Amino acid sequence: MSGLVVIGASYAGIQSALSAREAGYADNITVVCDETWLPYQRPPLSKGFLLGTTGEDNLVLRDEAFFKNERIDLVLGHRAVGIDPRARQIEVDNDATLTFDKLVIATGSRARRISAPGAELDGVCYLRSVADAIDLKARLAQAAEVVIVGGGFIGLEVASSAAKSGKKVTVVESMTRLLERAVCPLVSEFLHATHRQSGVEVLMGETVIAIDGASGRVAGVTLASGTRLPADLVLVGVGGIANDDLACAAGITCTNGIVVDEHGRTGHQDIYAAGDCANHYSRFANGWVRLESVQNAQDQAKAAGLAIAGSHGPYDAVPRFWSDQYSVKLQIVGLSAGHDRTAVRGSADDGRFTVFFYRNGKLIAADSINRPGDQMAARRLIAAGLSPTPEQAEDPSFDLKSLVKAIETINV
Ligand SMILES: Cc1cc2nc3c(=O)[nH]c(=O)nc-3n(C[C@H](O)[C@H](O)[C@H](O)COP(=O)(O)OP(=O)(O)OC[C@H]3O[C@@H](n4cnc5c(N)ncnc54)[C@H](O)[C@@H]3O)c2cc1C
Repeated sequence: MSGLVVIGASYAGIQSALSAREAGYADNITVVCDETWLPYQRPPLSKGFLLGTTGEDNLVLRDEAFFKNERIDLVLGHRAVGIDPRARQIEVDNDATLTFDKLVIATGSRARRISAPGAELDGVCYLRSVADAIDLKARLAQAAEVVIVGGGFIGLEVASSAAKSGKKVTVVESMTRLLERAVCPLVSEFLHATHRQSGVEVLMGETVIAIDGASGRVAGVTLASGTRLPADLVLVGVGGIANDDLACAAGITCTNGIVVDEHGRTGHQDIYAAGDCANHYSRFANGWVRLESVQNAQDQAKAAGLAIAGSHGPYDAVPRFWSDQYSVKLQIVGLSAGHDRTAVRGSADDGRFTVFFYRNGKLIAADSINRPGDQMAARRLIAAGLSPTPEQAEDPSFDLKSLVKAIETINV
């Protein structure tokens, strides 16, 4: 039995299968995934799921009946362990062999581990899967003192959820500000202040050199400065690594992820990759990027699914990301690396502002705190290559939507 085989049943894997089907791919579609759960949403795992506002049932992306209806076979709880591009075969850990005409590798990313002494102690946790989240939630309920290693998105979201649940929380970040690689200083400062106001202690420029234990369980962390923090739970959120090993071993070109074109196609004509595991050239980055976001996974996989079905729909969406911490909604559109100017609309004091980023006079990105309207406008402007002047962006009386309307007029 051949057809389309997809490895990984998350956003990218499921979207590629659905887009291929919707575009008329009539052959068999098999999705194999090492997780036993029906495809589910990851973003709530660090947010509503930990807080108890999103239940396990609400995480599911699509139910079994949906996949049956779409004639998509799910092989859950089994890992693909080898790809033979020449024979067009996938080896699965249950000794089965799947044959493919087309293959999508949507293996995502995994949490980067820390190597400090004591890192293997009971109570040192990572958050990537629903199994991790169930475990973390149970441990959080019992914990009093929580240390979060890493002031990135996952670390800060878990800090927010833990602080809201009344835990004593300390975030340890080695850089000079929170989310240093992702957002501008104003947004970092705003989030830092928000965490501080919520009772979270944030230690900047500090690294963990050891995780201390007692009777095999975590008891604290020791920092390079000599500070020792007591902890009965340590959550490590220090970034993700592309799951590209399978592709690399099969001779597919990988450089920080599986290298793909705008259709998600690898160097092999019939092998595609999408999502966290893929590295693509983006005009919005002015270079090659591997993005870890729901938007990227879905839009890139859509392009792959269309190409598999013989349709044309290259991936060219403006990158987007969001994060929820306390009552703060951070939204990011575009990629701000390489900007040479910023303009701020709104005010951090009011808890509602957007930072617009420019490169050579062109709008390339916007970070918003609680200003979804600015995000909508910025997304459309960046996609169309249109820019308000920095003065217009800063002027609250200037209607950004008027520029958006101008695009609509041009497109009519
Ligand atoms: C806690 C958390 C919060 C997040 N919050 C946000 C957010 O707020 N906004 C946002 O945009 N993004 C967020 N993200 C990121 C987003 O979830 C990812 O970018 C997205 O899930 C990527 O989808 P994917 O399909 O590429 O890969 P993944 O979701 O990583 O899925 C890959 C799947 O493939 C499986 N797999 C791997 N190797 C094999 C193999 N050899 N055989 C079989 N199966 C395999 C994996 O187990 C996994 O199920 C968050 C991520 C996490 C972990």
